[in-house]
Amino acid sequence: MKQHSFSLSATTFQKKLLKWFDTHGRKDLPWQKNKNPYRVWISEVMLQQTQVTTVIPYYERFMEKFPDVEKLAKADENVVLHFWAGLGYYHRARHLHSASKKIFFTLDNQFPDNLESLQTLPGVGRSTAAAILSLAFEKPATILDGNVKRVLSRLHAIDEWPLDKTLWEIAEKYSAKKRPADYTQAMMDLGATICIRGKPRCERCPFVKNCLAHLQGIEKDLPLKKPTKKLPVKTVTFFIFRYQNHIFLEKRPASGIWSGLFSFPEESNLLTTSEIKKICRKRFLCNPAKIQCWDSFRHTFTHFHLDILPAIIDLKESLEKEAQFWYKLEQNLNIGVPAPVKKLITQLETAS
Ligand code: SF4
Repeated sequence: MKQHSFSLSATTFQKKLLKWFDTHGRKDLPWQKNKNPYRVWISEVMLQQTQVTTVIPYYERFMEKFPDVEKLAKADENVVLHFWAGLGYYHRARHLHSASKKIFFTLDNQFPDNLESLQTLPGVGRSTAAAILSLAFEKPATILDGNVKRVLSRLHAIDEWPLDKTLWEIAEKYSAKKRPADYTQAMMDLGATICIRGKPRCERCPFVKNCLAHLQGIEKDLPLKKPTKKLPVKTVTFFIFRYQNHIFLEKRPASGIWSGLFSFPEESNLLTTSEIKKICRKRFLCNPAKIQCWDSFRHTFTHFHLDILPAIIDLKESLEKEAQFWYKLEQNLNIGVPAPVKKLITQLETAS
Protein backbone atom coordinates (compact mmCIF):
# COMPACT_ATOMS: atom_id res chain seq x y z
CA MET A 1 0.00 0.00 0.00
CA LYS A 2 1.39 3.41 -0.92
CA GLN A 3 1.99 5.87 1.86
CA HIS A 4 1.61 9.53 0.94
CA SER A 5 3.09 11.53 3.77
CA PHE A 6 6.20 11.12 5.84
CA SER A 7 4.98 10.10 9.25
CA LEU A 8 7.77 11.06 11.66
CA SER A 9 7.71 14.24 13.75
CA ALA A 10 10.85 16.39 13.78
CA THR A 11 11.70 15.24 17.32
CA THR A 12 11.37 11.54 16.52
CA PHE A 13 13.34 11.99 13.31
CA GLN A 14 16.21 13.70 15.18
CA LYS A 15 16.22 11.05 17.93
CA LYS A 16 16.36 8.18 15.45
CA LEU A 17 19.06 9.86 13.38
CA LEU A 18 21.27 10.75 16.35
CA LYS A 19 20.90 7.25 17.81
CA TRP A 20 22.08 5.83 14.48
CA PHE A 21 24.92 8.38 14.35
CA ASP A 22 26.16 7.47 17.83
CA THR A 23 26.82 3.93 16.66
CA HIS A 24 27.51 4.28 12.94
CA GLY A 25 28.53 7.89 12.25
CA ARG A 26 32.01 8.87 11.06
CA LYS A 27 34.08 10.37 13.84
CA ASP A 28 37.67 10.14 12.66
CA LEU A 29 37.80 12.16 9.46
CA PRO A 30 40.90 14.42 9.35
CA TRP A 31 38.85 17.64 9.75
CA GLN A 32 37.11 16.21 12.82
CA LYS A 33 40.44 16.16 14.65
CA ASN A 34 41.67 19.42 16.26
CA LYS A 35 38.41 20.88 15.02
CA ASN A 36 38.30 24.64 14.43
CA PRO A 37 36.42 26.90 11.99
CA TYR A 38 39.38 27.13 9.60
CA ARG A 39 39.81 23.35 9.33
CA VAL A 40 36.06 22.78 8.92
CA TRP A 41 35.79 25.54 6.31
CA ILE A 42 38.62 24.13 4.14
CA SER A 43 37.09 20.63 4.31
CA GLU A 44 33.60 21.87 3.45
CA VAL A 45 34.84 23.76 0.40
CA MET A 46 36.92 20.80 -0.78
CA LEU A 47 33.92 18.50 -0.28
CA GLN A 48 31.56 20.74 -2.29
CA GLN A 49 32.02 18.83 -5.53
CA THR A 50 34.37 16.06 -4.48
CA GLN A 51 34.03 12.81 -2.54
CA VAL A 52 35.59 12.24 0.89
CA THR A 53 38.11 9.61 -0.20
CA THR A 54 39.46 11.90 -2.94
CA VAL A 55 39.53 14.91 -0.65
CA ILE A 56 41.48 13.36 2.28
CA PRO A 57 45.03 13.35 0.77
CA TYR A 58 44.51 16.84 -0.74
CA TYR A 59 43.20 18.10 2.58
CA GLU A 60 46.15 16.73 4.51
CA ARG A 61 48.71 18.25 2.10
CA PHE A 62 46.85 21.57 2.07
CA MET A 63 46.67 21.74 5.87
CA GLU A 64 50.33 20.91 6.21
CA LYS A 65 51.22 23.79 3.87
CA PHE A 66 48.55 26.24 5.09
CA PRO A 67 47.76 25.27 8.71
CA ASP A 68 45.85 28.46 9.53
CA VAL A 69 44.14 31.51 8.05
CA GLU A 70 47.30 33.61 8.26
CA LYS A 71 49.46 31.16 6.28
CA LEU A 72 46.80 30.94 3.57
CA ALA A 73 46.19 34.70 3.46
CA LYS A 74 49.90 35.42 3.03
CA ALA A 75 50.51 32.70 0.43
CA ASP A 76 51.16 33.33 -3.24
CA GLU A 77 48.11 32.45 -5.37
CA ASN A 78 50.18 30.22 -7.66
CA VAL A 79 51.24 28.12 -4.68
CA VAL A 80 47.64 27.82 -3.43
CA LEU A 81 46.55 26.70 -6.90
CA HIS A 82 49.40 24.22 -7.03
CA PHE A 83 48.18 22.59 -3.81
CA TRP A 84 44.68 22.45 -5.30
CA ALA A 85 45.73 21.11 -8.70
CA GLY A 86 43.85 17.88 -9.48
CA LEU A 87 40.79 18.68 -7.34
CA GLY A 88 39.22 20.70 -10.17
CA TYR A 89 36.76 23.61 -9.90
CA TYR A 90 39.66 25.99 -9.31
CA HIS A 91 37.44 28.93 -8.45
CA ARG A 92 37.07 27.19 -5.06
CA ALA A 93 40.79 27.62 -4.37
CA ARG A 94 40.77 31.23 -5.49
CA HIS A 95 37.73 31.92 -3.30
CA LEU A 96 39.41 30.28 -0.30
CA HIS A 97 42.47 32.41 -0.86
CA SER A 98 40.59 35.71 -1.13
CA ALA A 99 38.31 34.81 1.81
CA SER A 100 41.36 34.08 3.97
CA LYS A 101 42.73 37.53 3.08
CA LYS A 102 39.42 39.08 4.07
CA ILE A 103 39.40 37.26 7.42
CA PHE A 104 43.03 37.97 8.21
CA PHE A 105 43.49 41.51 6.90
CA THR A 106 39.97 43.00 7.14
CA LEU A 107 38.31 41.09 9.97
CA ASP A 108 41.36 41.16 12.21
CA ASN A 109 41.72 37.37 11.96
CA GLN A 110 38.29 36.85 13.57
CA PHE A 111 36.46 34.02 11.84
CA PRO A 112 32.80 35.02 11.19
CA ASP A 113 30.46 33.15 13.53
CA ASN A 114 26.99 33.81 12.15
CA LEU A 115 25.15 32.75 9.04
CA GLU A 116 24.98 36.19 7.50
CA SER A 117 28.63 37.18 7.85
CA LEU A 118 29.85 33.72 6.85
CA GLN A 119 27.97 34.12 3.57
CA THR A 120 29.88 37.32 2.80
CA LEU A 121 33.03 35.23 2.37
CA PRO A 122 33.79 34.43 -1.28
CA GLY A 123 32.66 30.90 -2.15
CA VAL A 124 30.56 30.36 0.99
CA GLY A 125 26.86 29.81 0.24
CA ARG A 126 23.96 29.10 2.54
CA SER A 127 24.65 25.39 3.08
CA THR A 128 28.42 25.74 3.53
CA ALA A 129 27.90 28.60 6.00
CA ALA A 130 25.46 26.44 7.95
CA ALA A 131 27.86 23.49 7.96
CA ILE A 132 30.66 25.69 9.38
CA LEU A 133 28.31 27.19 11.95
CA SER A 134 26.97 23.88 13.20
CA LEU A 135 30.12 21.74 12.92
CA ALA A 136 32.67 24.28 14.17
CA PHE A 137 30.65 26.60 16.40
CA GLU A 138 28.01 24.09 17.60
CA LYS A 139 25.21 26.50 16.61
CA PRO A 140 21.92 25.20 15.13
CA ALA A 141 21.90 25.73 11.36
CA THR A 142 20.40 23.88 8.41
CA ILE A 143 22.51 22.38 5.65
CA LEU A 144 21.40 21.12 2.25
CA ASP A 145 24.34 19.62 0.41
CA GLY A 146 24.18 16.87 -2.22
CA ASN A 147 24.01 14.07 0.36
CA VAL A 148 21.21 15.70 2.34
CA LYS A 149 19.25 16.46 -0.83
CA ARG A 150 19.38 12.79 -1.76
CA VAL A 151 18.25 11.60 1.69
CA LEU A 152 15.38 14.09 1.98
CA SER A 153 14.10 13.65 -1.54
CA ARG A 154 13.93 9.88 -0.96
CA LEU A 155 12.44 10.05 2.54
CA HIS A 156 9.65 12.25 1.15
CA ALA A 157 9.52 10.65 -2.30
CA ILE A 158 9.84 14.01 -4.02
CA ASP A 159 9.72 13.53 -7.77
CA GLU A 160 9.62 17.11 -8.93
CA TRP A 161 12.22 19.43 -10.47
CA PRO A 162 13.65 21.80 -9.37
CA LEU A 163 13.87 20.42 -5.85
CA ASP A 164 15.66 23.02 -3.81
CA LYS A 165 12.77 25.15 -2.53
CA THR A 166 10.82 22.15 -1.22
CA LEU A 167 13.92 20.52 0.23
CA TRP A 168 15.04 23.65 2.10
CA GLU A 169 11.61 23.77 3.76
CA ILE A 170 11.86 20.13 4.82
CA ALA A 171 15.48 20.48 5.93
CA GLU A 172 14.60 23.51 8.09
CA LYS A 173 11.71 21.63 9.65
CA TYR A 174 13.83 18.65 10.75
CA SER A 175 16.98 20.54 11.75
CA ALA A 176 17.97 19.91 15.37
CA LYS A 177 18.44 22.60 18.00
CA LYS A 178 20.25 20.17 20.30
CA ARG A 179 23.56 18.57 19.28
CA PRO A 180 23.68 20.62 16.03
CA ALA A 181 27.17 19.44 15.04
CA ASP A 182 26.23 15.77 15.43
CA TYR A 183 22.95 16.30 13.59
CA THR A 184 24.70 17.93 10.61
CA GLN A 185 27.38 15.25 10.53
CA ALA A 186 24.72 12.53 10.86
CA MET A 187 22.77 13.83 7.85
CA MET A 188 25.96 13.96 5.78
CA ASP A 189 26.98 10.48 6.93
CA LEU A 190 23.61 8.92 6.24
CA GLY A 191 23.78 10.26 2.66
CA ALA A 192 27.44 9.30 2.17
CA THR A 193 27.37 5.80 3.64
CA ILE A 194 23.77 4.44 3.55
CA CYS A 195 21.52 6.49 1.30
CA ILE A 196 24.14 6.45 -1.42
CA ARG A 197 23.76 7.26 -5.12
CA GLY A 198 22.40 4.43 -7.25
CA LYS A 199 21.33 1.58 -5.00
CA PRO A 200 20.92 2.75 -1.38
CA ARG A 201 21.57 0.36 1.53
CA CYS A 202 18.02 0.59 2.86
CA GLU A 203 18.30 -2.53 5.00
CA ARG A 204 20.83 -0.66 7.19
CA CYS A 205 18.91 2.62 7.28
CA PRO A 206 17.24 3.84 10.50
CA PHE A 207 14.30 5.09 8.38
CA VAL A 208 13.64 1.93 6.40
CA LYS A 209 10.12 1.68 7.83
CA ASN A 210 9.26 5.33 7.21
CA CYS A 211 10.95 6.23 3.94
CA LEU A 212 8.33 6.92 1.28
CA ALA A 213 10.60 6.20 -1.67
CA HIS A 214 11.57 2.83 -0.18
CA LEU A 215 7.96 1.95 0.62
CA GLN A 216 7.02 2.75 -2.96
CA GLY A 217 10.07 0.95 -4.38
CA ILE A 218 11.31 4.05 -6.20
CA GLU A 219 14.40 4.87 -4.13
CA LYS A 220 16.79 4.13 -7.01
CA ASP A 221 14.95 6.62 -9.23
CA LEU A 222 15.32 9.53 -6.81
CA PRO A 223 16.38 12.27 -6.68
CA LEU A 224 15.36 13.03 -10.25
CA LYS A 225 18.26 14.06 -12.40
CA LYS A 226 18.38 17.60 -13.68
CA PRO A 227 16.98 17.50 -17.23
CA THR A 228 20.09 17.30 -19.38
CA LYS A 229 20.92 19.50 -22.29
CA LYS A 230 23.28 18.32 -25.00
CA LEU A 231 26.59 20.00 -24.24
CA PRO A 232 28.12 22.11 -27.01
CA VAL A 233 31.60 21.16 -28.24
CA LYS A 234 34.44 23.69 -28.48
CA THR A 235 37.80 22.93 -30.04
CA VAL A 236 41.26 24.20 -29.35
CA THR A 237 44.87 23.53 -30.38
CA PHE A 238 47.52 23.62 -27.66
CA PHE A 239 50.84 25.07 -28.81
CA ILE A 240 53.35 23.05 -26.80
CA PHE A 241 56.68 24.72 -27.48
CA ARG A 242 59.66 22.54 -26.59
CA TYR A 243 63.17 23.95 -26.47
CA GLN A 244 66.17 22.16 -24.95
CA ASN A 245 63.94 19.91 -22.82
CA HIS A 246 61.91 22.88 -21.54
CA ILE A 247 58.29 23.58 -22.37
CA PHE A 248 56.63 26.96 -22.49
CA LEU A 249 53.69 27.74 -20.18
CA GLU A 250 51.83 30.99 -19.71
CA LYS A 251 49.49 32.22 -17.00
CA ARG A 252 45.88 32.30 -18.12
CA PRO A 253 43.75 35.42 -17.70
CA ALA A 254 41.97 36.06 -14.37
CA SER A 255 38.58 35.16 -15.85
CA GLY A 256 37.31 32.35 -18.07
CA ILE A 257 38.18 28.66 -17.87
CA TRP A 258 41.19 27.63 -15.78
CA SER A 259 41.60 31.27 -14.79
CA GLY A 260 44.92 32.06 -13.13
CA LEU A 261 46.42 28.63 -13.87
CA PHE A 262 49.41 28.02 -16.14
CA SER A 263 48.71 26.43 -19.49
CA PHE A 264 50.02 26.15 -23.06
CA PRO A 265 49.31 28.97 -25.49
CA GLU A 266 46.28 28.05 -27.54
CA GLU A 267 44.25 28.88 -30.63
CA SER A 268 40.63 27.98 -31.37
CA ASN A 269 39.90 25.04 -33.69
CA LEU A 270 41.75 21.81 -34.38
CA LEU A 271 44.40 23.21 -36.70
CA THR A 272 46.36 21.54 -39.48
CA THR A 273 50.17 21.43 -39.36
CA SER A 274 50.46 24.17 -41.98
CA GLU A 275 48.03 26.40 -40.06
CA ILE A 276 50.07 25.81 -36.90
CA LYS A 277 53.27 26.70 -38.76
CA LYS A 278 51.72 29.94 -40.04
CA ILE A 279 50.55 30.95 -36.55
CA CYS A 280 54.00 30.14 -35.12
CA ARG A 281 55.53 32.65 -37.55
CA LYS A 282 52.89 35.33 -37.15
CA ARG A 283 51.97 35.20 -33.46
CA PHE A 284 55.06 33.71 -31.86
CA LEU A 285 57.67 34.98 -34.33
CA CYS A 286 59.38 31.61 -34.52
CA ASN A 287 60.24 29.01 -37.13
CA PRO A 288 59.52 25.51 -35.80
CA ALA A 289 62.12 22.82 -36.43
CA LYS A 290 59.44 20.13 -36.18
CA ILE A 291 55.69 19.96 -35.50
CA GLN A 292 54.11 16.78 -34.28
CA CYS A 293 50.36 16.59 -33.56
CA TRP A 294 49.17 14.02 -31.05
CA ASP A 295 45.64 12.58 -31.09
CA SER A 296 43.02 15.04 -29.93
CA PHE A 297 41.14 14.28 -26.72
CA ARG A 298 38.08 15.56 -24.89
CA HIS A 299 37.88 17.40 -21.57
CA THR A 300 34.39 18.03 -20.28
CA PHE A 301 33.32 21.08 -18.28
CA THR A 302 29.89 21.59 -16.71
CA HIS A 303 28.69 23.60 -19.70
CA PHE A 304 30.63 22.31 -22.67
CA HIS A 305 33.05 19.72 -24.03
CA LEU A 306 36.49 20.92 -25.04
CA ASP A 307 38.26 18.90 -27.74
CA ILE A 308 42.00 19.52 -27.47
CA LEU A 309 44.63 18.96 -30.14
CA PRO A 310 48.14 18.89 -28.64
CA ALA A 311 50.77 20.15 -31.10
CA ILE A 312 54.34 19.54 -29.97
CA ILE A 313 56.46 22.22 -31.55
CA ASP A 314 60.22 21.76 -31.36
CA LEU A 315 62.27 24.94 -31.55
CA LYS A 316 65.91 25.54 -32.43
CA GLU A 317 65.85 28.92 -30.71
CA SER A 318 63.93 30.13 -27.70
CA LEU A 319 60.79 32.19 -28.29
CA GLU A 320 61.22 35.88 -28.89
CA LYS A 321 57.96 36.34 -27.02
CA GLU A 322 58.51 37.54 -23.48
CA ALA A 323 58.81 34.20 -21.73
CA GLN A 324 56.46 33.76 -18.81
CA PHE A 325 57.55 30.35 -17.70
CA TRP A 326 59.81 27.73 -19.19
CA TYR A 327 59.33 24.48 -17.32
CA LYS A 328 62.22 22.05 -17.40
CA LEU A 329 60.76 18.58 -17.96
CA GLU A 330 61.13 16.15 -15.08
CA GLN A 331 61.61 18.91 -12.52
CA ASN A 332 59.01 19.23 -9.80
CA LEU A 333 56.16 21.23 -11.26
CA ASN A 334 55.20 23.59 -8.44
CA ILE A 335 52.64 25.80 -10.11
CA GLY A 336 48.92 25.21 -10.64
CA VAL A 337 48.10 23.68 -14.03
CA PRO A 338 44.75 22.29 -15.28
CA ALA A 339 44.34 18.50 -15.32
CA PRO A 340 44.71 18.06 -19.15
CA VAL A 341 47.91 20.15 -19.13
CA LYS A 342 49.29 18.05 -16.26
CA LYS A 343 48.44 14.90 -18.23
CA LEU A 344 50.26 16.17 -21.34
CA ILE A 345 53.32 17.21 -19.33
CA THR A 346 53.48 13.72 -17.81
CA GLN A 347 53.24 12.18 -21.31
CA LEU A 348 56.04 14.46 -22.54
CA GLU A 349 58.18 13.52 -19.56
CA THR A 350 57.59 9.81 -20.15
CA ALA A 351 58.41 10.23 -23.85
CA SER A 352 61.57 12.31 -23.30
S1 SF4 B 1 15.30 3.78 3.39
FE1 SF4 B 1 16.72 3.69 1.73
S2 SF4 B 1 16.13 5.29 0.32
FE2 SF4 B 1 15.11 5.69 2.25
S3 SF4 B 1 16.45 7.12 3.30
FE3 SF4 B 1 17.00 5.08 3.97
S4 SF4 B 1 18.65 4.44 2.60
FE4 SF4 B 1 17.62 6.20 1.69
